[in-house]
Amino acid sequence: MENTIISSRGTDIPKTKMKHIRPLRGRFSHRRVDELLHSIYDEDEYAEMKAKGVDKRMMFGTNPHYQALTIGEELIDEDGKVLVPKMPPSLPIAALILPRLNETTSMEGAKDPSNQMNFTPSSNSLHGKLLHKYDEIVLGYSSPTCSAHCRYCYRLDLFNKDTGKISTRPEELRDYIINYNRTLEENGGIDPETGERRYPIRELLLSGGDIMVLPNRTLYRFAVAAGQAGVSILRFGTKEIAFRPERFDKALADSFRIIHDEFPHMHLYIVSHFSHPDEFLERDEDNNYIPNHNGPGYKWMDVSKAAVENMLSLSFVTMENQTPMILRVNDDEPSLRILHEECRRMGIRPKYMFQGRDIEGHKAFSVPVEEAWHIHNEAMKGLSDTARSRFSMSTSWGKMEVISVIDKITDDTIDFDILPMALQIAVKELFGDGLVIFKSHRSPYSASSQGDLIIAKRNPEALWISGYEDRIIYDSRRPEHEKYGGLVSSLIESFGTDYFEKAKENKRTYAA
Ligand code: SF4
Repeated sequence: MENTIISSRGTDIPKTKMKHIRPLRGRFSHRRVDELLHSIYDEDEYAEMKAKGVDKRMMFGTNPHYQALTIGEELIDEDGKVLVPKMPPSLPIAALILPRLNETTSMEGAKDPSNQMNFTPSSNSLHGKLLHKYDEIVLGYSSPTCSAHCRYCYRLDLFNKDTGKISTRPEELRDYIINYNRTLEENGGIDPETGERRYPIRELLLSGGDIMVLPNRTLYRFAVAAGQAGVSILRFGTKEIAFRPERFDKALADSFRIIHDEFPHMHLYIVSHFSHPDEFLERDEDNNYIPNHNGPGYKWMDVSKAAVENMLSLSFVTMENQTPMILRVNDDEPSLRILHEECRRMGIRPKYMFQGRDIEGHKAFSVPVEEAWHIHNEAMKGLSDTARSRFSMSTSWGKMEVISVIDKITDDTIDFDILPMALQIAVKELFGDGLVIFKSHRSPYSASSQGDLIIAKRNPEALWISGYEDRIIYDSRRPEHEKYGGLVSSLIESFGTDYFEKAKENKRTYAA
């Protein structure tokens, strides 16, 4: 039972009934997990997964709602209300939570993706509890778990306690923000240690794990901390609206109203993590989405629709969506188009589509960067501008947007014969494979590299930004005299050092 918590204005924080939506989490040795997975996989495949330690990499997690979508069963709550109608099993949803045999085939990747631990306070009791990467926003690890587990999870190190990430208390976040902003103000917006211009913290992002697995009274405590810290935006990063939309009920909306009454100048953002339309649309017995009979779009499941409406009925709440692109989950253009279009139609702004992060085992989940860009780019065609997202990578350099991929240069593209031989070699070396262009959309700390471009030779196999490190020909993040360093090295490599020595010699001779 939740203890009652009273707001500072004397109102009880309403409770959301969570009993009927209780999750099931555990390794393969957990009796109920074992029974469930036995019923899904054939004997040999499951035995092999056990032998390869797939559950050691990540514990299995599901809950009744997502489970019903996975196996195609009706879900009814204790009052007889249909939460999930009977529909065919959803393969994308199954692929999101069911363990994959090849997860441990290659454990290449980072334990702490994007070097997040570089952006946590290093020397005090807050180490590992928060991420302060971009000046204006602090992310707090406010919950150590989620109600189901995405196999591609980029917070696995928090769950597995591998890198020092740990949950924080609301008051710790409040005090960090107050102290940081006060110090900055006292120094006229300048970092006293580096002498650089810095920006004050304006936003708090509650993440985890998933903040929405916590009771409303705990959400209220975090919101009070945010309000007392004086932030103007409080964000909730959550996949619960896909995993358990029942959680976004009237009690949660009423809790948000109480928060708003106390802190009317703080806007609430719900950053949803819808990955595929099967998470919210109703499907007929042939697995087709059901078109609305009285207008555009498709029929949402009642409970998902109610969840979004409960939140967006509040004038001080905005919803945005972001998701990674994952093999076998949402790596197809039609699903992405419907995902974007339906989110927009319901009032959720599509914000980012991410390249899958380079977690350990990511080869089982990641679509190559250039292919993913192409799928996303095709999916955006014909969509209203209001329904489009940016295709980006969350790297330790910040959010790198993949702007474009340029095709290979061939003899059909350029008439090479009209070019002198040296120029032919140079053009083929630099542009022959085609190019990828990245833009630093958000840059850490004082945003010094924001807006910078990086141009690299293509690598169709690359799954992450690291796959381009030795192919960069222009990098505007680097000091002026090094920006074209990659281009010069490429040319030296293709012509040979002798050629350049001779060219230098000739230059000296002509000059003399
Ligand atoms: S919702 Fe986010 S934190 Fe939770 S399992 Fe999925 S990716 Fe990980």
